[in-house]
Amino acid sequence: MSKRILAAACAAATALTLSACISPSTSNGGSSKDGKLTVMASFYPLQYLAEKIGGEHVSVTSLTPEGAEPHDLELSPKMVDSLSSADAVIYLAGFQSAVDEAIEQQAPKTVIDVSSAAKLVEAGTDANHPSEDEEDATDEAQSGETEAHDHDHEGADHADHDHHHDMSADPHFWLDPTRMANAATLVGDKLAEADSAHADTYKANAKALAEDLNALSDTLVTKTSTCKVKTFVTAHTAFGYLADRTGLTQVGISGLDPESSPSPARLAEIAQIAKEQGVTTIFTEALIDPKVAQTLADDLGITTAVLDPIESQTDASKDYAATMNSNIDALTKALDCQ
Ligand SMILES: [Zn+2]
Repeated sequence: MSKRILAAACAAATALTLSACISPSTSNGGSSKDGKLTVMASFYPLQYLAEKIGGEHVSVTSLTPEGAEPHDLELSPKMVDSLSSADAVIYLAGFQSAVDEAIEQQAPKTVIDVSSAAKLVEAGTDANHPSEDEEDATDEAQSGETEAHDHDHEGADHADHDHHHDMSADPHFWLDPTRMANAATLVGDKLAEADSAHADTYKANAKALAEDLNALSDTLVTKTSTCKVKTFVTAHTAFGYLADRTGLTQVGISGLDPESSPSPARLAEIAQIAKEQGVTTIFTEALIDPKVAQTLADDLGITTAVLDPIESQTDASKDYAATMNSNIDALTKALDCQ
């Protein structure tokens, strides 16, 4: 559109659409014209919390594009700019370094870091939360060792190996609905502080959501309490907190980061565990090429099914809770639970 046409269009624009005619840096973010609190969430589960708790009083944008994988997020300069005018930003410190850096640069008014509520577990602490570059993590699963690994001496090597993942904790807290409930309470309290006019609504919504999430956690635990198979093989190691909650053991084909790929030795090891543990299903996920999982399943003569790590909303008709319920169904089927 030429400048002249744009100017004409803007002259004709009503007050409601006028913001589109101002410079790009002010058209994105900031208190919107309809009086809603503008909230930026760094990836889908946090967007879900913001939308459920904020309801009609917030306008929520996700920094991770819909259907994209949040681990290796890169932000456009425009997205970085938009943070400075957002009323609130919700993120998980240490998970997406581009977001950490942008928040530091732009200093948004209200910054909500859910990591305290998420109670992250240090990577390498146990079999369900292996460190990224350890291929022998499942040895621990088999021997039951829970030795903590010292990460300090391998810091340089680690950074080299995976520059965008400087977190030494397992980030995937949202796959434990109890941790999500704790994050909901935190987000409710912080939104109430940021927008005191609607504080009561935010707190009430957060309370109701936390109750729903705790009920979902109870369902997860109850339905997986009678499983004959106790080990589940996943595409990437996203389900450690779910495994902890249910007492199951996760074996990830890729590590905590979905981009890490397994060595042939590691694949042989996973196949061995799958045989020993009576695994019936290799789980895949929408945002990872299922080829490795499919080959593994074919070699073992077993099936594949989807277990969604809910890192993005891959199906617009299914929100966090609906997807988690699908995950519970997939697990109970694969693990032969009564
Ligand atoms: Zn992940």
